[in-house]
Amino acid sequence: MTHLECSRTGAQYDADVLQNLSEVGAPLLARYDLDRAGQTLTRAALSTRPPTMWRYREVMPIRTPEEIVSLGEGFTPLLHPERLGCWAGFSQLYIKDESPNPTGSFKARGLSAAVTCARARGAKKLAIPTAGNAGGAMAAYAAACGLPAIVFMPRDTPQAFVAECRSCGAEVELVDGLISDCGRIVGERKEAEGWFEVSTLKEPYRIEGKKTLGYELAEQMDWSLPDVVIYPTGGGTGLIGMWKAFAELEQLGWIGQHRPRMISVQAEGCAPIVRAFARGDESAQAWEDAHTVASGLRVPSAVGDFLMLQVLRESGGTAIAVSDEELLAHSHSMAAHAGIFPAPEGGATLAALIKLKEQGLVAPDERVVLFNTGSGYKYLEALSEGLVS
Ligand SMILES: *Cc1c(COP(=O)(O)O)cnc(C)c1O
Repeated sequence: MTHLECSRTGAQYDADVLQNLSEVGAPLLARYDLDRAGQTLTRAALSTRPPTMWRYREVMPIRTPEEIVSLGEGFTPLLHPERLGCWAGFSQLYIKDESPNPTGSFKARGLSAAVTCARARGAKKLAIPTAGNAGGAMAAYAAACGLPAIVFMPRDTPQAFVAECRSCGAEVELVDGLISDCGRIVGERKEAEGWFEVSTLKEPYRIEGKKTLGYELAEQMDWSLPDVVIYPTGGGTGLIGMWKAFAELEQLGWIGQHRPRMISVQAEGCAPIVRAFARGDESAQAWEDAHTVASGLRVPSAVGDFLMLQVLRESGGTAIAVSDEELLAHSHSMAAHAGIFPAPEGGATLAALIKLKEQGLVAPDERVVLFNTGSGYKYLEALSEGLVS
């Protein structure tokens, strides 16, 4: 890593001190000397490395491997569930199954990277606003390296997330409001309390963890990329991170110019990116009265909105909303036809695929990757609905 770069102005920032947003309030992105990285990050070298996201260490934000705070995150299976493909009418359907990650979701990737970097740069206590999974992951990685942590989550967050954070030793404050209200509280108190804030895209390294989704997709597809990626979108780190990974991979000479159409799925009760995409806007207005059982999608406004919209448009993709009924029904379809008990956010990607097929926006023989971003086990209240005994 050579430096950090403002995603709006291109201004450079020091990567060796704690950083949040740039001076203009935009996310900072890590930049690397990719020629140098490519000298040791070779396909031959990769074949000997452990199956975690840190196998790509030359393009990860660390100075030495000893800094890494890891619980074995990443390198999750890319499944080709044939029965589900048949049922949905797709011959090349894949699921990147993120449910085996530590803490049961792909948030482990982002928080392994963010906690690693925050600790290496001297953070004393970590604070996070969360819809659920990010808080659990932060609490776990903070526990693993002995950093104090405080988590702010909406009062109606499912019980499993609250218990997980408290069990890992984090302080938990339940807030009457949404993740954006939690974010405001962290912002107001962090300076006086001496907290380092690890909100989505408000520090530079969660996205570096999430970008490994893109590296893995390429590696697991033998250095090619699919035609379509369907991603359940809240703060958008995975979407923006994968796009960054594809650019780095091309610069490393490992893939060509082909890119998947990146498709964002949101819930009808909270779809700020879908609305902004449809209007042709460059950034998204905050969504009023956000509600959905897919708590990872209950993000009414995101600092990376303009970056997400850029990715969707540059890739020729789109953004689509599904109802809670549809995303729950398709969580059960994914379970029944593929044997994966997904988070409702994962079910949303299948619901979106079915709609896109009806609209003629995805063809039956295209290579399609759905992201099941987490395990269903933390959403038992929601997923128990609509089941026959
Ligand atoms: C956080 C989360 C999402 C949304 O991810 P972003 O990268 O913030 O868009 C999707 N699914 C699950 C299970 C999550 O926890």
